Amino acid sequence: MKPLAPSPTGLTSAPTRPKSASPGSSAVQRRNSTSSQKNGKDDSGVPGRVRVAVRLRPRNTEELAADADFGDCVELLPELKRLKLRKNNWDCETYQFDEVLTETASQKRVYEVVAKPVVESVLEGYNGTVMAYGQTGTGKTFTLGRLGEEDCANRGIMVRALEDILADISFEHDAVTVSYLQLYMESVQDLLTPERDNIAIVEDPKTGDVSLPGATLVELRDQKSFVELLQTGEANRFAANTKLNTESSRSHAILLVNVKRSAKNKQERDFASHSENGNGVHVSKGHRAPTIRKSKLLIVDLAGSERVDKSGSEGHQLEEAKAINLSLTALGKCINALAENSPHIPIRDSKLTRLLRDSFGGTARTSLIITIGPSPRHRGETASTILFGQRAMRVENMVKLKEEFDYKSLCRRLEAELDKLIAENERQAQAILDGEEDMQRKLEEASICVAEAESKFAAASENQNWLKQTFAEKETYQKKISAILQHHEQELNDSQTRLENERAQREKLEKELSEANRCLQEQSKEKHDTGEIWTLHKRLEEELLEREKLDEEIKSLKQQLLQAHIEAEETRRTVGKGSSARSSAGSDSTISLHRPSNMRDTINGQRATIAKLFEQVGLQKILSLLESEDVDVRVHAVKVVANLAAEEANQEKIVEAGGLASLLTLLQSSEDETIRRVAAGAIANLAMNETNQELIMAQGGIGLLARTADDAEDPQTLRMVAGAIANLCGNDKLQIKLREEGGIRALLGMVRSRHPDVLAQVARGIANFAKCESRGAAQGYRTGGSLLIDDGALPWIVANANNEASPIRRHIELALCHLAQHEANAKDLLVGGALWELIRISRECSREDIRSLAQRTLNASPIFQAELRRLHVSY
Ligand code: ADP
Ligand code: MG
Repeated sequence: MKPLAPSPTGLTSAPTRPKSASPGSSAVQRRNSTSSQKNGKDDSGVPGRVRVAVRLRPRNTEELAADADFGDCVELLPELKRLKLRKNNWDCETYQFDEVLTETASQKRVYEVVAKPVVESVLEGYNGTVMAYGQTGTGKTFTLGRLGEEDCANRGIMVRALEDILADISFEHDAVTVSYLQLYMESVQDLLTPERDNIAIVEDPKTGDVSLPGATLVELRDQKSFVELLQTGEANRFAANTKLNTESSRSHAILLVNVKRSAKNKQERDFASHSENGNGVHVSKGHRAPTIRKSKLLIVDLAGSERVDKSGSEGHQLEEAKAINLSLTALGKCINALAENSPHIPIRDSKLTRLLRDSFGGTARTSLIITIGPSPRHRGETASTILFGQRAMRVENMVKLKEEFDYKSLCRRLEAELDKLIAENERQAQAILDGEEDMQRKLEEASICVAEAESKFAAASENQNWLKQTFAEKETYQKKISAILQHHEQELNDSQTRLENERAQREKLEKELSEANRCLQEQSKEKHDTGEIWTLHKRLEEELLEREKLDEEIKSLKQQLLQAHIEAEETRRTVGKGSSARSSAGSDSTISLHRPSNMRDTINGQRATIAKLFEQVGLQKILSLLESEDVDVRVHAVKVVANLAAEEANQEKIVEAGGLASLLTLLQSSEDETIRRVAAGAIANLAMNETNQELIMAQGGIGLLARTADDAEDPQTLRMVAGAIANLCGNDKLQIKLREEGGIRALLGMVRSRHPDVLAQVARGIANFAKCESRGAAQGYRTGGSLLIDDGALPWIVANANNEASPIRRHIELALCHLAQHEANAKDLLVGGALWELIRISRECSREDIRSLAQRTLNASPIFQAELRRLHVSY
């Protein structure tokens, strides 16, 4: 055999990186061993060539004894990395290796030159293989599998490789798993779980990756557990071989180390730091899937390479022996084919070649150590081993980074990023929503402000219009008032002229009269017996008497007229109610003198009957019937008395006979409504007379009338009582007493009735009282404010000054004028709102005398004048 051209090797140099490390790009790489060899160039620069080291075992005890006289069959030239194989004493062949390890080479050095570059390569992501080939007993197991428990310096490649791997990886991101197998008689056995036999070898058709899914996979965390794992494996291997009746030298031990590392490129680290930052969301520009590197380290302790027949194997048939070495033979064939660049590589011929397909002619970085012994007795086997190594050195691999994208982790990372974005998006959407709501609220507030401003503006312009209108009205009023004043001035002038004329006329008449008297006296002195003058004088006296009588009659008629007015109102209503009501109304007619014509006959008939009764029975008797125990009798008696009292001629007689006292007693004591009503009517009639008024007062009549006024409900009773008190109100002398005994209070209390007849009587009483007060003030015997106002009459007066019913209105108008005439009342009237009523009366009252009285009163009062000026009401 022709030795190969020696070439220096660089096994100890750092592993060569492929030019392109990207996954899948290995296809473009070329195996160029053939061309480099053809050109005779140094192949140390070829990246993927299988590196081969040779190790010489020291002589063992047996060899030392048996071969003592013989020299070694090999001579090592380690500095030249050459080995000389002696053919005989004078001839030898020299072989070049990548490393030549002498019998003294330490385990550490062996590891460093043979295995360490491969281990480092595996840690960087390349597959790697360390394999020992050699005759049984040459130190394969010593080199690879020694645990070094007795002496740590003896630790073999397996232990040291795992030490380096475990030291380099990070358990946080990386993982190391180990399977330990034995291949014997073409059957893969699990050394960690011995019952698993005949484990299938699975090849990935795409990548060509070989895996053993059925094998136990142990994840390593520390060196100790690995040593234990190897021990277990060895123990199981020993047991299995015993059971199969074989030796360990007949089986191949395979340690499979899987290293899985996550790539640590800069971009990835940057991403990780952003992702871990909880604040804000980082959106990386273009997501590159993180890469993951899955490399495998195969450490293979092959069965002994010696021929079976020679090794003296016992108990096996030839076929079995063939089967035992089938894998090794197939490996040799494959390496030959690869070394010769043969188009066909019989990888599938054995399980070993299938398992090692990536180690020889594949993508792994492979380091082979061939072990040889020094004994010349085994020269043939040694030569065969050396040739195997030489051929293996010619095998080129395409080392390829076992890197792939870690799509799973990229997905996880993108999902996390997406979740953060979704959350942030939700927060931003909420913020926008909140902003919109805030804006809407402000908009609403602004529109409310605008609406308020508009309404204020509208109110302001309305006020302006009102002011304009008021000024216009004021001007109109001022014009009217000045016209009225002019008119009154004119009238006053006219009146003064008339007055002066009349005064002159009167003076003239008085003069004529005194002249006539003087003449008369003279004449009577001179001719008092003159019959003509005496006759004239007599006639004059008679005429004067007649006139007095007529005056009396007129007075009486006037009173009757007032009464008739009240009666007429009532009669009108009674007639309206129907005939039955009319007949009962007849019994109330005691104070009535004038009735409608259709009733007058009946009343006159009654009067005639009563007059007859009066004449025949006598007043005394009638009055005594007032005290009868029979109610009916009392009722009839009081009606008779009331009818009599309606005639002024009878009044004095009735009073003289004690009729007034009897009537007052009835008013006080009777529980019969009719009796009380009729008695009150009779008293009212009697109260028309001034003397009777004093008598009524003296006999406590006011108190009785006041109590009746408080108790009674019937409007007619109230009308009679109010009429009686109203009559009393017209008496100047009785004012104080009347008020002290509750007359005014009772009068005002009766307004609760609301019946217009009652109200008319109340108004008449108030007018009478006010008239007396103003008269007293004018004559100077009365000072201070009105007793009516003191008793709280003013609000009712003001409220009814313009009452629809004319009798009420007239009396109140008069009362107001009388009250206003006394300046002491002016302030109260102002406060009570009477000024406006007085102005109204002075302008609108249909009765000329009341209208002018109101005008005079307003003009005469300094307080009213001041107020009118203050209110800019020119008057
Ligand atoms: P193999 O596995 O190739 O059959 P072993 O590793 O079992 O060989 O070695 C056979 C014997 O030789 C063992 O006793 C071993 O201790 C010893 N031996 C092998 N190589 C060396 C060495 N380099 N130095 C010292 N002893 C060795
Ligand atoms: Mg061994």
